[in-house]
Amino acid sequence: MTLFDLSNISGNRYVTVIVDCIGIDDLLTYRIPEDVELQVGDILSVPLGNRQVGAIALQISDTSAIDDPETEIKEISAVVSSGIFPKTYWELLTRTAEYYRTPVMQTVKTALPPKLLDQSHYRIKIKQLDSPAANLIVAKSAQMVWDFLQEHKGNSKGLIRRYIQQKLGRYTGAGLRELQKLDLVETVLELPNRPQPKYEDIVVLIKVPDSEITARQTEVLTILQHQGGECSKSQLCKLAKTSASVIQNLENKGYIVISKRESLRLGGKSHTVIRDRPKALTPDQDLALQQILKAIANNNPSHFLLHGVTGSGKTEVYLQAIATVLETGKSALVLVPEIGLTPQLTDRFRARFGDAKVNVYHSQLSDGERFDTWRLMLTGESQVVIGTRSSVFAPLSNLGLIVMDEEHDNSFKQDQPQPCYHARTVAQWRSQLEQVPLVMGSATPSAELVFAQKQQELIYLELPNRIGNRAMPPIEIVDMRDEFKAGNYSILSRKLQGAIAEMLEAKQQGILFIHRRGYSTFVSCRSCGYVAECPHCDVSLSYHDPISPTAHQPKSAHLRCHYCNYTQIQPKSCPQCNSPYFKYFGSGTQKVEQELSKLFPNIRLIRFDSDTTRNKDQHRLLIDQFRAGTADLLVGTQMLTKGLDIPQVTLVGVVSADGLLNFSDYRAGERAAQTLLQVAGRAGRGEEDGKVIMQTYTPEHPAIQAVQSYRLEEFMQTELEMREALRYPPKGQMVLIHLSSENAQTVENSANELAEYLRQLENDWEILGATPATIAKVANRYRWQILLKFMPDVLPNVPSLEELRMLVNSKAVRVVIDVDPLTIL
Ligand code: ADP
Ligand code: ZN
Ligand code: ZN
Repeated sequence: MTLFDLSNISGNRYVTVIVDCIGIDDLLTYRIPEDVELQVGDILSVPLGNRQVGAIALQISDTSAIDDPETEIKEISAVVSSGIFPKTYWELLTRTAEYYRTPVMQTVKTALPPKLLDQSHYRIKIKQLDSPAANLIVAKSAQMVWDFLQEHKGNSKGLIRRYIQQKLGRYTGAGLRELQKLDLVETVLELPNRPQPKYEDIVVLIKVPDSEITARQTEVLTILQHQGGECSKSQLCKLAKTSASVIQNLENKGYIVISKRESLRLGGKSHTVIRDRPKALTPDQDLALQQILKAIANNNPSHFLLHGVTGSGKTEVYLQAIATVLETGKSALVLVPEIGLTPQLTDRFRARFGDAKVNVYHSQLSDGERFDTWRLMLTGESQVVIGTRSSVFAPLSNLGLIVMDEEHDNSFKQDQPQPCYHARTVAQWRSQLEQVPLVMGSATPSAELVFAQKQQELIYLELPNRIGNRAMPPIEIVDMRDEFKAGNYSILSRKLQGAIAEMLEAKQQGILFIHRRGYSTFVSCRSCGYVAECPHCDVSLSYHDPISPTAHQPKSAHLRCHYCNYTQIQPKSCPQCNSPYFKYFGSGTQKVEQELSKLFPNIRLIRFDSDTTRNKDQHRLLIDQFRAGTADLLVGTQMLTKGLDIPQVTLVGVVSADGLLNFSDYRAGERAAQTLLQVAGRAGRGEEDGKVIMQTYTPEHPAIQAVQSYRLEEFMQTELEMREALRYPPKGQMVLIHLSSENAQTVENSANELAEYLRQLENDWEILGATPATIAKVANRYRWQILLKFMPDVLPNVPSLEELRMLVNSKAVRVVIDVDPLTIL
């Protein structure tokens, strides 16, 4: 029996539900009363112990999942609300659960906001006051509820269900059921009020003061002139210390016009701005837009890759495509990596479509805000939802288009809690299920999309030039081995020091990018650039501290491969040139900050990393300060790569590209090339030309070469060939199983037993491990992992999370399953 099979067989029918009750994660089964019609996705009220709780119908069947005939199966009490979710919604959720091998319950929890099932949000409304059907009421309970509703008919919004329940108790369920059958009442999910657009009077100067008017009036007009000939009426009154009637008088005399204009909430504040108008498109943009519009018009679930550097006009294409979607009364979903870092993007959408049309949804909203925004999506009104990864589950019922900006960004993948889904994968399913096009934009397309393009599974659209044909800043590569040879032991090369000095001289601004992961793990030689690599796999070895006291872990610092478990003791000197400067590499922001202050005592710095931006408004504050010119140099990590558009930045420095290149991960090359290109793109966005200086110990690395020429295509092709040969994704597929425990021996045993068990299963897969994770211990938990590698058709044979938990069978060991992991650490 499939999940969506609505059975009509007479006899008992059962429904499997998830209940809204903390601590109950299992699916429960209830009997469906004979006279009740149910659909998957309906919100129900069910008995649980001696309480009534909210539930969602997940599966309807004519056989109960409970084998034991002795077990009493209770009946559901009521259908609270039916059909509020888009039709394919539950299919999307169950497909996500299935693919990511996670229980449906956990997937649903990821998708739905808290409190959705709370009955106090549902109201009962009389459908038609004097309906003749009221004469057909038979049961006492139905009559009681009906009378009660009649008494309160003054309340046009209807009565809160919970209130009726409180007053009428056990009669409510049965009574409402009969009334619903007679079509006398309906249940509605209470919806919050949509913010109404705010308007303001704007005064525009149309005639300069002349001798016809008084000195006082001239004074007012002069002030208006100083405001650029345009400002809000209230502000003008304030500035000119005058009254509305004086201003009205000026309009009557034909010196100004007063008109209403929408006031928008931009950057968190209210602004009165001219609504942003669609731009006349360049031929490339127009070509892209036309293809997308065709797919929208034909309900074609095509997948598009919109490839163009930052500033090439991708967002303008999204905006115009979305405008068409809104005109036809449908909605658009825009997925972005991180809202906090891209306020300008949401501002642009608001300026184009108005506040009332744009909903922003992300994890930094409070529970209440999330719930309200979520319900606004259920209204079915045409709207734009901009949100981070979980918005891929936004319950928009009349979707016309999905846009995913910066599709290559890793934050589209969920780490925890499970399911570890990738929003791009889910968006692709959603596009299929709802028959809407999906537009994925990037300056540096992911290997997945390059592969899909090769397989002709997507339509490639290119915006090859920046708007206004501004050149990309030239990228200079500095070989750090030469610096070392020349006796410069600083982490800043002479070239980069010189460029910073010039930048300070010219009173310009710059960005210094540092790759610092909490655990940058490769080991390299500062004299010759040699990097310790696995003799069997195409990855660098990871440095391990001697912390884990179990049998498989050497007692001293050692290097280990995460793919084949090859292990060697950390050498004392470089195996290639014997230099003693052979160690584990790292240059944190603080260290760079010290070095800079030493070299340039007067330099004004802003440090931008996870230490200084912990607070949610801190990102924006620091960037606003920098934009306002309070510092010369912004020194930061990865976070700098995201949507940071500061026109006056002329210099971008990369302290060490190597931290990105030398990963114990097959994706390192791809990620390095993407990140470096994104970083480079921060320079020269304004009037002044920009330049980029990239320091590295391996200038010959193909990723560096590709970045320097701004052409990743060829590099990505080689990258894909290498991966295909080794059956790495995207051709092959991987699943990573993590195990962790406070007890080192327990988790090691469990991991080895599980790996042993999996090996005995007859599947066409490779099993790598069990191995200790790179960070073998986090927060007192010891971590192990098992990596499965196979061709995609094998995925359904991979044990689900529930099965793994059963196999491990130890409460002391936590199990996580990550399908399509982005990092293998
Ligand atoms: P991207 O999303 O690729 O970074 P944008 O759409 O943000 O590019 O465009 C970059 C800049 O150029 C923006 O300021 C945008 O308003 C402007 N722009 C985009 N398209 C056009 C156009 N056809 N004519 C004029 N300006 C444009
Ligand atoms: Zn060396
Ligand atoms: Zn190896």
